[in-house]
Amino acid sequence: MNFITDLVWHNDKLFGITWNAWKVVGFIGNAIFFSRFIVQWYATEKKKQVIVPSAFWWLSLIGSVTLLAYGLFYLKDSVVIFAYAFTWIPYIRNLIIHKQHKAAHTDCVGCGQKIPPQSNYCPNCGVKAD
Ligand SMILES: [Zn+2]
Repeated sequence: MNFITDLVWHNDKLFGITWNAWKVVGFIGNAIFFSRFIVQWYATEKKKQVIVPSAFWWLSLIGSVTLLAYGLFYLKDSVVIFAYAFTWIPYIRNLIIHKQHKAAHTDCVGCGQKIPPQSNYCPNCGVKAD
């Protein structure tokens, strides 16, 4: 029993980690950043085709900005700071493109579903697109 409890709590450390508010922020940033892979994998398995949903870019943005804050204000480590200093640029650009692509969809006159831009026919009902 002591062996198990020592693994969890020992020398004022939980799981061997000395905790403070920034450690919590860092682990939350890691969890958000990691969760994007699960979201992307799930979307891909669901469609059986490689899909990168906008949630992937949101989780990338929020996770990397959180880890950048951890690097800047707690670690003060140049390697970690540079790892996350510029990644927000493609994340935001991809979110903008995602939004523009969604807005460029038109409504099908046949079934009322959304037709992707530059489509000649509705993928849902086959009616000719305008
Ligand atoms: Zn249609």
